[in-house]
Order: sequence, then C-alpha cells, then structure tokens
Amino acid sequence: MSKLLSPEEIATQAGGDATPNRLPSPRVFADRAARLRQLAQGHAMADFLAFAARLADAQQTLLERRGPTAPPDEAQLRRCRQHGMPPLDAHGAALPADWMAVLHDLATAVVPHAPAGLQNAIAALPDFPEERLAALARAILRGDEDLSNPIELALAPLIGASLQVLWTAAALGLATTDIPTGFEGGQCPACGAPPVASIVRIGDGGHGVRYVTCSLCACEWHVTRIKCVPCQNTRGIAYQALEGAGGPAHPAVKAETCPDCHASLKIVSMETDPAVDAFADDLATLALDMLVDEAGFHRAGRNLFLFLP
Ligand code: FE
Ligand code: FE
Repeated sequence: MSKLLSPEEIATQAGGDATPNRLPSPRVFADRAARLRQLAQGHAMADFLAFAARLADAQQTLLERRGPTAPPDEAQLRRCRQHGMPPLDAHGAALPADWMAVLHDLATAVVPHAPAGLQNAIAALPDFPEERLAALARAILRGDEDLSNPIELALAPLIGASLQVLWTAAALGLATTDIPTGFEGGQCPACGAPPVASIVRIGDGGHGVRYVTCSLCACEWHVTRIKCVPCQNTRGIAYQALEGAGGPAHPAVKAETCPDCHASLKIVSMETDPAVDAFADDLATLALDMLVDEAGFHRAGRNLFLFLP
C-alpha cells in the first residue's frame, strides 16, 4: 500500500517532469490588459489599473508590430547554456538602437488617457536629453534607478513598459532550449531580471506547477513550491492573504514569506482563478505588500509599472 502524502509533499513533488522554462505568450500584454480591466472593476485603485490596462494594450500593439527579435548567434547561445548565463542579459547589454522610438510610440498611444503627472512628463519628453533617458533606462534595467527628478519619476513606468516590449520581443525570438536550465533562483534565466511574482499553473504547463514570472521579459522559470525564491530556503515558509469584510479579498493571491531572508514574493494561483496574471494581480494587491511590510518582510518582486521616489 502506498503511503499517503502530506499536502507539502505533494506540492514539493509536483513538477518533477515540468518544463523548466516557459517563453512568454505572444499575447502576453493583451491578456494582461484584459486581467487589469477585470481587476479594476470596483477596485479602490480603479483609475490606476485602467490606465495600466491602456499601457498594456499599447505594449501589445508594439510587440506585434515588432515581431520576435533575431536571437543571439549560436556560439553565444551555446556559451550561455554552458555557463548558465542569461542570453538576453538585461544588466550589461546595450539598449536596442530603436528603443527611443518604442518609448515615443507608447507615449503617443497612452497620453490621452494618462494621469496629469504623466501627461506633463510626456509633454516635456521632446526637450528631455536623450542621453539622460538612456541612462535612466539602463539604471532601471540594473535596478538602481535614482528617481529624485519628478519628470523622471513620472516617466519611469513608461520607460519600464518600453523595456518590457523590447525584452519580450527578444524572448519570443528564443527557443525554450536556448534558456539555461537548473536554476531555481531569483533571477530570470533568460534575461537576468528579478521576478514580478510567481504563478501556480494549470493545464498544459502541468497541473499545480509553480513558475516564477520575469518582471522584464515575461519568461517563466520553474521553482518548486513552498520555497523562498530569492534565497532557496524551504523551512518556515508561510503565506499571507488579504482579508475583506466577507472573507478573502483576493483569494488567488498570497504573499510567500521567508523567515530566513525576510523576503516576500507573491504567488498567484490559476487553481483558484484561471484568469490570474502575475503582473496584473501584483499591481491590484499592493495592500498585501503593506501588510507583509508591517510584519517585517521586504518586497522581493519588482513591477515596472510601479516606482517610488
Ligand atoms: Fe527575463
Ligand atoms: Fe528567503
């Protein structure tokens, strides 16, 4: 007779034969926009989420116009696989030559719907030194941006959105076998960027398998459940959720907290709600970040629509 497994054992063993990496859907931004619109209904931050949906729509248009980027040459891809290096390195790579055109196209598409601060910043864009914009974009890719300038602070989500278009197009030019495997850490194996959140998938991705979603290129990498993504610790992992008046406020979203490194990364579950999107559901549950922050955990996820000075 086989031994009964605890829920933890089942979750840890799920995905033994899961695909290690997943490329983004070619419709990733359209799906995200649809989820953002759904989440905006009756939400305290409805205007913000509705604007984020407009921005995601514009990203989808630009992604489709651009198509998948030609991949790095075979020798470079082989080196990356051998040494476990991300082939679309976001930290040291140069910006694509036309990145500024992508930024301007996004600005033009969203400016009629943008909040006043962003409208003013977009109006100032033609006079803004290109070199400073490029420096800000590179800083956002490295994760060390200094947003003390109010115009730069207002433009940061637009720059983040343009970088997502470029890196998602590049990811769509890869084959899953081009991405190094065997990593369960806090950096995207395709581009090296941090995650936005993680997602428990259903269907073709394997039922109940957890993937971590990249904040930049939207690739996903498999990480065993009940494990801290940033530090790999498996002991004392706990989950926190938002409670509303009549029960859980966002039942498909939990914060996975680690007592070792004090990181908190959200986990969204398709088992609870098949429509979840790691990026959209993260934006709609900022109250959960405040809750875990008060409990002493720092936010490990990065969302490129969300910047603080
Ligand atoms: Fe990535
Ligand atoms: Fe940890």
